[in-house]
Formats: sequence, structure tokens, C-alpha cells
Amino acid sequence: MAYDNVPRLNSFSLGDFHNAEKCFFDFLVKHHLQKRYEIEDGNKNLTIGSVLDLVMKIIHRSKAYDQPLDYILTAIFSAAEREIRTSVEKKGPQSFYGATAKFLNEENINIAKEVFKNYYLKRGGKINKSIVGEKFWDLLLEGEEVLKLWGGPDSLEIGTDGVPEVVDYKYFEDVEKGKNYLDMDTMPKLYILLCASELQKLGYEKARFRVRSWSDPLDESLYEEFDLETVANLKDFFKYKIQQIMSIKEINFCEKEYCKSCKSDQREIWIKELRTQFNFS
Ligand SMILES: [Zn+2]
Repeated sequence: MAYDNVPRLNSFSLGDFHNAEKCFFDFLVKHHLQKRYEIEDGNKNLTIGSVLDLVMKIIHRSKAYDQPLDYILTAIFSAAEREIRTSVEKKGPQSFYGATAKFLNEENINIAKEVFKNYYLKRGGKINKSIVGEKFWDLLLEGEEVLKLWGGPDSLEIGTDGVPEVVDYKYFEDVEKGKNYLDMDTMPKLYILLCASELQKLGYEKARFRVRSWSDPLDESLYEEFDLETVANLKDFFKYKIQQIMSIKEINFCEKEYCKSCKSDQREIWIKELRTQFNFS
């Protein structure tokens, strides 16, 4: 089956797994009803994180590894801001950068610059080089029903010891709290699995998944190493995980005050849609 022909109901990203665990109704609204961009309204910290991640992407893309801090804080930050605004102008407010753009103002860009400056200075300007360019990562899980995993880390870099690193950059305003909530189970497995065959093609046998914390630049503790030959076993892990989610036929609500789906005024309409279109009870 061609990649594009896998029904969206059978396609899962990291966010889908997280949503399904946190609030099943919220997961259904975003995954089954495709309302993700409609209900995500963003916030200051998500915007700061998105800007920082994009700045790192542009550094990799333009190979700006030996550039002075000032160049990054001016030219590359401007390029990132432009890219976010252009994307929203083209694709509308309900798109990938829609929620980011809402909080993209001078104040938050300046906070992002301060965070970057601290990151750069504490690491002595050291940014590991990228080994694979930006791409959309997806993977088919063959079986009775074809499933698809998609998404991807921020970058694939070469570690200081020569081991390739699949890196996800994270911005936490509260570093300790952020680290406690970090998913170091599904996230490393998914991102390594998505990138494994590409890394094997490049001749690597091992890979490391790593989280880099923008606010804690010297933390080297957030990682997990994988033997690429055995990574294919993870396909069964994800098949099982998806089958478990898809076997739930009853809508559950978290009822949390901050839940955009449970607390939406569209709630009853969405419940009705889920019942009629997908046979939920
Ligand atoms: Zn909820």
C-alpha cells in the first residue's frame, strides 16, 4: 500500500498517543474529527519553544555552525519569524504555525533570544552538525490492517562520540517540572523507529535519542541508546499500542478545566459526530 493511501484513522503521531492517554475525548476530537488546529490556541511558552526549535532547524539548514551569536540573534531569528508568519499567511490560522503566530510578538521573541543566548554561551557556541536534512518522517506497519506512524524529531545530529543522535529540543519555563513530565518511553522509541532505516542506510549500527533542554544547556542526561538492528521489534510495540487505542468504543472525558475538548461549546456536536461517523457509544 502506498504511504498516502493509509486512512488517517490508521495514522498515529506522538501527539496522538499522548492525547489518548490524557483525555480520550480530546484524542478523538483531534485525531478522528481532525479538529486539532481548530482547538489548539497556543500560549506564550509554546511560541517561545517553536521559535527556538525553528531557529535550530535554520542553523542546520544553512549550516550556520560557526556563526557568531549576533548573527543568529539577528539574521536567523528574523528568518524564523518570517517563516512562521509566511506559513500562516499562506495556510491560514488553522495550520501548523497558527497557534504559534498568535503569541509571536516582540516580548516573546526577546525571551526566546535570551534563552538562545544562554544556551549558546553555556555550550561555548557548540552545536552538533546535522547528518540528515529536514524531512517528513513516516513508516508503515504492515499487518492485517496497514497502520502508519508519522512525525519526527527536530534534527538528526552527529554526537561528539560519532554516534548519530535523534534530537528533540524542548523548552520548559520550569525545567524541573518539564523534565518530570517528559515522555522518555514512547517518544524515544517512536523517533528512533521513524529514523532507523535512514540511519542504517548511512551505515550506522547504533543511535541515540536525546532531548536537549533549551533552558538547561549542559544537561546531557536525557537520552536513550538503541541498537538499530533490533529497532524493528518496536513495530510490534506500536502496533499493539494502536490496536489498544482503536479497541476502545466508548468515549471518555477527562473533564479537566484546561481541556479544550471537554470544555468546548462544541462538545455535544462532536459527541454526535463521533457516534454517527465512528459508532462510539
Ligand atoms: Zn478532556
